[in-house]
Amino acid sequence: MVGLVLVSHSRNLADALVALIKQVNAATIPIAKAAGVGDDRQEFGTDAMEIVEAIHSVYSSDGVLVLMDLGSAILSAEMALELLPEEMQPHVRLCSAPFIEGAISAAVQIGIGSDLDTVHQEARQALFPKIDQLEHDSATSTSALPGEKPLTGDTAAAPQQIILTILTRHGLHARPAAKLVQMVKTFDAEVEIATFLPSDAEEELRIAKGPVPAASLNRLASLGVVHGDRILVSAQGSMAEQALEAIRRLVAENFGEKDDEFESEPSPEFQRKSPETDVILTGKPSTAIPVSEGIAIGPAFHYHKARIEIPEQGNSDPQTEWTSLQQAMAVVRNNIMQRRRQVQSSLGESRAAIFDAHLFMLEDDSLLTRVRQQIFEQHRNAAAAWKSEMNKAADSYRAAPNPYLHQRAADVEDVEMQVLSVLLGKTTTAFLTFPEPGILIAEELTPTAIAQLDRSKILGIVTVIGGPTSHSAILARALGLPAITGVAPSVVDIPEGTPLAIDGFQGKLWKKPDADVLDELRARQTEWQTTRERLLASSHEPALTRDEHRVKIAANTGNELDAVMAVRNGAEAIGIFRTEFLYLTRNNAPTEGEQVETLTRVGAIMEGRPIYVRTLDVGGDKAIPYLHLPVEANPFLGVRSLRFSFKRPEIFLTQLRAILRAGVQADLRIMLPMISQLEDLLQAKRYVEQAHQALEQAGIPHRWPLEAAMMVETPSAALLTAAFARHLDYFSIGTNDLTQYTLAAERGNPELTSYHDGLDPAVLQLIHKVVQDAHRFGKKVGVCGELAGEPAAVPILVGLGVDELSMNPGSIPRVKDLIRKLEFSAASRLAQNALQAERVSGVRSMAEQFLSTM
Ligand code: PEP
Ligand code: MG
Repeated sequence: MVGLVLVSHSRNLADALVALIKQVNAATIPIAKAAGVGDDRQEFGTDAMEIVEAIHSVYSSDGVLVLMDLGSAILSAEMALELLPEEMQPHVRLCSAPFIEGAISAAVQIGIGSDLDTVHQEARQALFPKIDQLEHDSATSTSALPGEKPLTGDTAAAPQQIILTILTRHGLHARPAAKLVQMVKTFDAEVEIATFLPSDAEEELRIAKGPVPAASLNRLASLGVVHGDRILVSAQGSMAEQALEAIRRLVAENFGEKDDEFESEPSPEFQRKSPETDVILTGKPSTAIPVSEGIAIGPAFHYHKARIEIPEQGNSDPQTEWTSLQQAMAVVRNNIMQRRRQVQSSLGESRAAIFDAHLFMLEDDSLLTRVRQQIFEQHRNAAAAWKSEMNKAADSYRAAPNPYLHQRAADVEDVEMQVLSVLLGKTTTAFLTFPEPGILIAEELTPTAIAQLDRSKILGIVTVIGGPTSHSAILARALGLPAITGVAPSVVDIPEGTPLAIDGFQGKLWKKPDADVLDELRARQTEWQTTRERLLASSHEPALTRDEHRVKIAANTGNELDAVMAVRNGAEAIGIFRTEFLYLTRNNAPTEGEQVETLTRVGAIMEGRPIYVRTLDVGGDKAIPYLHLPVEANPFLGVRSLRFSFKRPEIFLTQLRAILRAGVQADLRIMLPMISQLEDLLQAKRYVEQAHQALEQAGIPHRWPLEAAMMVETPSAALLTAAFARHLDYFSIGTNDLTQYTLAAERGNPELTSYHDGLDPAVLQLIHKVVQDAHRFGKKVGVCGELAGEPAAVPILVGLGVDELSMNPGSIPRVKDLIRKLEFSAASRLAQNALQAERVSGVRSMAEQFLSTM
C-alpha cells in the first residue's frame, strides 16, 4: 500500500487532518505526520529530519506520497528527499496538491489499493471540484464537463444504467462519496455518475452535470449531489451488472449513514429502513439505563433553554467588543468539540456529526463580516450584533422550503445562546411551557438545568445522554423523580403531549402505553409508594445491626430543600453539602454574605446535626459559565474542584470565610474534594487558616477551630490514607469519582456503565485500605458516593467497617431498614469474600445471594 506523509507547520492542523481523513476513509492506511517544531511540537515550523523519519515509518516498495502545506514546508520536504537513501528516492513523490483536499483524495485512493501514480494524479486534481463549484456555480453550467445528453437512446450499445435517489441527509458528501469510490473499485467495470436537472416526470429527465467517473472522489464531489437528487449510474465492463447492483444496495442502505434517523420528516423510504432498536416504538417498551427508581406516567414535554436578555447600549470601543466576541466564540468552539468527542464515544459518529453543523456556524465568514460591520460601523455591542445576525440566519432557515433546513434554525439558536452565555457570563435559565405535570424529555440535562427545573411540573425524566452516577442522575434521585437515560436519540422527536410511561427501576420507556401496561405500572407505582411510607415511619431510629453494630446515616444535599428532606427521612448529619449548586443557577458567584445566609438556614434546618460543607467542586460535568473554567481536552482529569479553587483563591477564600462565619450558629465542618496529593490537603488547610486570620483581624465572629475532612475520590488519595490521617479526623469516600478514576471510565458516559460500578473488586480493595489505615490512626471513614445508598452495596460497605453512609435523602429509610436486618458478623464475612472476587459480576452475585437470604 502507498504510504502518505503530511508535512505541516502546525501539529494541530496535521492532527486534525488525520482525524478528518479517518472520517472520510474507512480503510486503515499507512499515514505519518511531520508537523510543528519544539519539544512538544507545538511551535509552528517543519523539520527535515522529522520528515525523513515519517517517510521511513510508512515506506514500502509501493512508494510514499508527501503532501506539504506551504513555504518552508516545501523546502524541508525537498531537503528530506535528498537525505533519503538513494534506492528509496524514486519511490517517494512530493506532491503539489492542495494540502487538505489533496490528502483526502490521496487517502481514499490509497485505501482502495491504487498505485502511486494514480494516488498522485488524484491528489493533484483535488482542487477541481471546488473550482468547478465556486467558479461555474450553476445547475446547468456544465461546460467543463462532458455535456448534457438525453437519457433516452440506444441502450443496447450503451452501458447499463440505473436511476437512484440519494437520501443521505447531506447528499453525496465526503463520507458516502468515499464509500462509493471504494465500492466501485472492487468491480471490473467503468462506472460513471451523472445528475439530472430537477423534474418530476421520468420522461423529461435531462442530464445536468456529468457523467463523471465514480472512482474519482473529486469528480463525484463536483456533481454537488444533495439530499433528494436523482442520479444516473452507468456501468460498462465484465462486471457492470454486479457493480450496479452493489451501488443500488449501497444507496438503498443509505450508505450506512445513521444520521438520517434524526430528520424531522424522514422520507417514507427511510422510515421503512429505520432500525427498530434505535427508535422509540409505540406500545413496546424501549430499554434504557435506570438512574432513579420509581414509576412515572404522564404526557411528554421537552426541555427548552430560555433566552438571554441582551444589553442594548452601543459600544465606545469596537475593537474590545470584537475581541471579546472572538474569545467567546473560541470558548464555545472548544466546548462543542469537547462535546462532540464525548458524544462520539458514547453514541457514535453519526450522532456526534450533528455538532459539526454547530462548528460550521462559528466559521461562517459572511455572517462574521456582517457582525463585524455592526460592531465597527453601527457601534452596536458585540452581544447585540451577534444576536441580530444569528436571528437573521435562523429566520432564513425557517423560511426555507426544505424541512431539514427548518431544523437548522434550532441549531443556529443553540449556538447563538452558547456564545451569548459565555460573552455575557450568564447562565441560561430553563423555562417549561407545558401546562400540566409530565415526563420531561431532553437530549441531556446538565446539573444546572435540573437544578432550575420547576419540580411541581415534572413526574419523571428521560434523557439520551447520562450515566447512573452523573450529577444529573444524582439530582434526579435527590428529587425522588423516576429517571432513565441512554434512551434512543429519536426520543427528542416525540411530539409534546404524547402519553409516556417510564420505569426507573428497570430502565424502560413506553410511548402510548396500552391499557394492560398502564394497569400493571399503576399497581407497581402504588406498591412503591406504600413501601416508601412504611419505611419512612421507622427512619428516625438509629441504624443498628441485629448484633448492635451502629452505622451512622447521613444525607448528601445541595440546597435547603434537600436538607428538609434529609431531616424528614431521618438523616443524622449532612455527609456532604454540595456547594456548587449555590453557584449553578445564577449569573454571578454568590457573595460571602449570601453564602453565610444560605449555610445558616441549612444549619437551622439541621437543628445541630453536623454538616460537612464541601468546598466548590466545579469542572468535570459541572460547568459554570461565569467562572470561565479553562477549556480542557479531559475536564475530569483537569483543573477541577480543589485544583480550580487553588487557581481562583478569591473564590475559595470567600467560600471558606462564609463557612467559618456560618459555623457560629451551626455545626459546620469543611470537606475538601478531589485531593490527590498530600500537598493538596496541606495547601487547602493553609487557605482555611488564611480565611480564619482575615476574619480574626476584621473582628468578625466565626467558628474556630473548625474540623476539616477530605474526600477520597482518587486512587492516590486512597493509597496514601495513612499519610493524610495525621492531618485530619474524617475521610469520606466519594465512590462516584473513585470508581471513575480507578476504572478509567467517565461517569456520565452511558456506554461505560458496565465499568463504573462501585462494587468492582478494585474499588472495594481501595475502600478496604482506606478503612484499615484510617482506623489504625483512630480516624472515622464514611462513604458518600451513590454506592452508599445502593441496597446491594450496603452490607458490603458495612462489613468493610465503614462508619458512616451518606446518601441522597430519598434512600435513607430503605438503607436504615436494611441495616437493621443485617448481622454485622455476616456482613464482614461477605465483605471479605467480595475482596477476594476477581470480577464485579462475582461481587454482585454474592451480594444478591446475601440479600435474598435476609
Ligand atoms: C463522589 O465523587 O462520589 C461524590 C460524592 O462527589 P460528587 O458526586 O459530587 O462528585
Ligand atoms: Mg466527586
